[in-house]
Amino acid sequence: MRVRFAPSPTGQLHVGNARTALFNWLLARGSGASFILRIEDTDAERSTKESEAAIVRDLRWLGLDWDEGPDIGGAHGPYRQSERLHLYGSYAAELLTAEAAYYCFCSTTQLDADRQDALANGRPARYAGTCRRLSREQAAARLAGGERPAIRFRVPEARDVVFTDAVRGDVRFQTDVIGDPVIVRADGTPAYNFAVVVDDALMAVTHVVRGEDHISNTPRQILLYEALGFTPPTFAHLSLVMGPDHSPLSKRHGATSVAEFRAKGYLPEALVNYLALIGWSPGGGDELLPIEELARRFSLEGVGHSAGVFDEEKLAWANRHYLKMADPARLAELALPYFKEAGVLMAPNDRGLQFLASAIGMASASVDRLSQVPARLAFLFHYDAAAALADERLVAEMREEGTRGVVAALAEELAAAPRLDREKFREIANRVKVRTSQKGKALFHPIRVVLTGRAEGPELDLAVPAIDLGAELPASAGIPKIVGNRERAAAFARALEETLR
Ligand code: GLU
Repeated sequence: MRVRFAPSPTGQLHVGNARTALFNWLLARGSGASFILRIEDTDAERSTKESEAAIVRDLRWLGLDWDEGPDIGGAHGPYRQSERLHLYGSYAAELLTAEAAYYCFCSTTQLDADRQDALANGRPARYAGTCRRLSREQAAARLAGGERPAIRFRVPEARDVVFTDAVRGDVRFQTDVIGDPVIVRADGTPAYNFAVVVDDALMAVTHVVRGEDHISNTPRQILLYEALGFTPPTFAHLSLVMGPDHSPLSKRHGATSVAEFRAKGYLPEALVNYLALIGWSPGGGDELLPIEELARRFSLEGVGHSAGVFDEEKLAWANRHYLKMADPARLAELALPYFKEAGVLMAPNDRGLQFLASAIGMASASVDRLSQVPARLAFLFHYDAAAALADERLVAEMREEGTRGVVAALAEELAAAPRLDREKFREIANRVKVRTSQKGKALFHPIRVVLTGRAEGPELDLAVPAIDLGAELPASAGIPKIVGNRERAAAFARALEETLR
């Protein structure tokens, strides 16, 4: 069995196409089939090298790999259509000789006029067949006269094309509604429907798994397989990925490309796992599974044919799961661009990264996406007692006798204390409790405000030791200066005095 993913490099990798790539990959890796990457870049105006590179990068980021492709070669190459033009030319010549194809001299103006005329008269807007009726001699004369024709495939008349789609079941088309498609454009480049058939046949692809948007191309392709003497592969058309309004997921719904979801701070394993769940289920009530296990369970028969709606809430749910499981050192590295975006500039060395890794768990356990990590850890890098006390409600709280006592006692205890780890912090909190007779929220809320400058945040047992660990870092760690707990408590007590005076 051989499958392929055949993107056109005309933009970013759309998550719908990523899902097509993933389903091919799951099928291949679960069954021992070969997975081919082929770049369909015959549209010279819209195809770019940058887009090809971005697609390859995004597929790799998702954790997909292939056995043959433009970057790694293989026995059925080349794997870029732009490098296979000679092949299409020879097969087109073969079809011309057999009169299964013919030269078409119609200009775009002519074709447009024919189309308008057909529409105005309630006829289907397919090719009018003008050049189909040219004799060999007429065509030869026009060629000799210097005209540059396209080549069209002669679709057989009055036939049913039937195929059994592995996802959708029996599909039937009548050839009478299919206009003769261009297979080679006047500039010599092959059209999609032709190149895809030549390539899939020569690359010995056995299963074509692709988006449903290609289902109406399939009868043309099957007829081309026949005309060229090739055996058609099994087709499987996947329902498209829809937006919440059930129209195909597009820009107006928000993010659509793998690159955009990466930038938003989703982990590749979360995106892959979520994409696998659109229109397919691993069964057994399971949803969150490693990609290898998804591959083990995947089958085309299990793919549903109703359209799948892209639900970012559910993607976020998957992401939360994988954020909790991820190696903190990896998350620390991945979070760096988001710190930069948030204005927390750092160039951590190993020690700095170690510190970030030790702190990241308290943020990553409570966010949907990596981009939200800097805000959760802002208490480490921005401490400003006066700014905190600009909040009226907070000041009102701090006016209360008991609360003021906690602030003062905490500052005094910390003045004499070493840097706090979790145990030392508990000791200090206990001493403050004994001195002030405050407990529970009345004790810990003011402590939180004093030490983090915020009314909310991660668990104090984690946050407080992280502050002092950060405060001890040498400048060479490449982490912005972190104000320690002792200094925070002193600054807060002073600022509160000022405010209440
Ligand atoms: N290049 C086509 C696309 O990106 C491939 C379609 C196919 O898989 O046959 O839509």
